[in-house]
Amino acid sequence: MTRPVYVHDLDALAGHARAIRAALPPQAELLYAVKANPEPDVLRTLAPVVDGFETASRGELRRLAEVLPGRPAAAYAGPGKTDADLAAALAAGVARIHVESPAELRRLGALAVAAGVPARVLLRVNLPLDAPGASLVMGGRPSPFGMDPADAVACARRPPAGVDVRGVHVHLASGLDAPLAATVARAVVSWSVAEVGAREVDVGGGMAVDYGDPRTRFDWAGYGRALAGVCDAYPGVRIRVEPGRSVTAYCGAYLTEVIDVKRSYGEWFAVVAGGTHHLRTPAAKGHAQPFTVHRRHGGDGPCTDGGPVTVVGQLCTPKDVLSRSTEAGPVGVGDVLVFAMAGAYAWNISHRDFLLHEPPDFRTGDPYRIAAEWTAGRAGQTSR
Ligand SMILES: *Cc1c(COP(=O)(O)O)cnc(C)c1O
Repeated sequence: MTRPVYVHDLDALAGHARAIRAALPPQAELLYAVKANPEPDVLRTLAPVVDGFETASRGELRRLAEVLPGRPAAAYAGPGKTDADLAAALAAGVARIHVESPAELRRLGALAVAAGVPARVLLRVNLPLDAPGASLVMGGRPSPFGMDPADAVACARRPPAGVDVRGVHVHLASGLDAPLAATVARAVVSWSVAEVGAREVDVGGGMAVDYGDPRTRFDWAGYGRALAGVCDAYPGVRIRVEPGRSVTAYCGAYLTEVIDVKRSYGEWFAVVAGGTHHLRTPAAKGHAQPFTVHRRHGGDGPCTDGGPVTVVGQLCTPKDVLSRSTEAGPVGVGDVLVFAMAGAYAWNISHRDFLLHEPPDFRTGDPYRIAAEWTAGRAGQTSR
């Protein structure tokens, strides 16, 4: 039995990130939201491509300082920043602090005055947005994130001492397709310039990732064209985007081996090493994680009949379901399953200590080549 392994394909990540950067207008800034995947290799790979990193905790600030010394975060966001958090962000030279409430802005002002450094700020606004044609209203509902528009206008008109309000930050939803994301960007910039006199607007992340079809990608080219239109309409305004999931989701895979297969009241189950304590994404999102089956050469152990199969892990809970598939084909003991789209909100959101199982290994490279080596019995890996 080989230990489950996360494989990050850093070449694929660099290529994907470069394509995103190239699709966006040159005057727009691309930040990467570190919370999607803070692995040092991922940050190092993205560093030459993105314009900066969006952080949301002191831990992420520390990670960035360790991995990319001399490259302060472009943004520091998140609810519940303590005075120590705010002081650390000022000391780290974070370019923009995204402020979530009027009270936080007052605390930041006092800290900035005491430290003798100005706090350059975007106000995070919970803006009510109607997306025409999408029958979807975003924002404008009670939320712990951001401030009401009237509060943001008041903060911008009378900022506390020590604070330089540069503009607005909005991150309202995730799973936006390109037309909807473009509509959001247009509406947010228009409101921010008119009501707050914004010189900078961060229109957020949340670009859609379709786990049901790994080949469908967010239309960065279409979004980039729309964003270029917004940049042209507001030439003095600096516009930023801060995607996370749509940048790294495709570059990570989780490889694991089938320990057991069985039929239970007519349904087939494949039990794999590891589980949702390594890869919580399907449990968190409520989807079936896409996977491919790599048959073990010479494997002659128990096998499903090729019909529908439910893939579960080693945890003693019925929630430990990684996937369900009608198309996987036969799955046998010793086969290797490659779960794709495990590069964002995957290992880092997983409840890794539940049941005290071993952690996975981590490698870089092409996950399918590694799976091929593995099924051929040339694992080059820790065995137990
Ligand atoms: C999580 C988050 C992002 C990134 O969202 P994705 O869905 O991963 O693109 C960007 N900005 C803020 C403020 C966030 O909280």
